[in-house]
Amino acid sequence: MSDAAPEGTDPEELAATDDSPAEKAAQETPPGLPLRVEGVVKRFGGITALDGASFSVEEGSITGLIGPNGAGKSTMFNCITGVHEPDAGTIRFHGEELVGKEPYQIAQMGLVRTFQIARELEEMTVLENMMLAPKNQLGESVWRSVTPGARQGVVQQEEELREAVWETLEFFEIDHLAEEYAGTLSGGQRKLLEMARALMTDPEMVLLDEPLAGVNPTLEDKLLERIHELREQGYTFLLVEHDMEVIMNNCEHIIVMHQGNVLAEGDADAIRNNDQVIEAYLGEDI
Ligand code: ADP
Ligand code: MG
Repeated sequence: MSDAAPEGTDPEELAATDDSPAEKAAQETPPGLPLRVEGVVKRFGGITALDGASFSVEEGSITGLIGPNGAGKSTMFNCITGVHEPDAGTIRFHGEELVGKEPYQIAQMGLVRTFQIARELEEMTVLENMMLAPKNQLGESVWRSVTPGARQGVVQQEEELREAVWETLEFFEIDHLAEEYAGTLSGGQRKLLEMARALMTDPEMVLLDEPLAGVNPTLEDKLLERIHELREQGYTFLLVEHDMEVIMNNCEHIIVMHQGNVLAEGDADAIRNNDQVIEAYLGEDI
């Protein structure tokens, strides 16, 4: 095959050419797998939290990332979202390297995470939290891109933002809480607001770290329903969860981490019956 390749298409020659990052990305990314993590290593002093972990996330899926305590789930989450820089490995989103990028740059690319409501935001209303969300998550540059003097543009943008905020609040059924201070919300309502805020950046993929921790069963169902509805609309989710049942019942693809590596991958049945997974979880409540 390579013998017959016309001049200029030899893979090594291609790699050496100065293609634009987008072109290179398109060449390297198989369709349907927007997020690819390969050989990621992260050490904290003497502790190896991630030890060469690799996996991909399929477009339009709800993918679960599970593992016993200390497996490296949160560290992986933080590496993907730019909070930590891995010591080795690559993390690509649509072929573009995320390692070395700031969290806001990764968010601008359409890969967002939920953030806990910070203390200063607790003293603002739900509506104010929502109005600030895109600004906080995308960084100032987006807002500065409105040309000075384009007053009409600013007003129109504000109106559009307001509309999007109300639509999102209604979608999560927290519009009746718009004037409440975020600090007064229940654990579950807070999680709904955190997700609503994340969606204000118009993401493609949403990463959730333990989205159901401290959420009562009624709101838990509501949150999961919303995730499924959003997936129907084309969003992709990567759910990091300690609770195996939540993952089993909601994810079509599950990645199991153990000691900083990927131990197994598959659907709920495959994972449930995997001896290595059962062994890794021994002594834990699953
Ligand atoms: P999980 O989220 O699966 O419970 P973590 O990613 O939080 O696992 O932790 C993986 C390993 O890395 C654990 O041994 C943990 O103690 C260690 N670790 C995580 N974050 C840090 C840190 N900031 N400093 C030192 N060690 C850390
Ligand atoms: Mg964790």
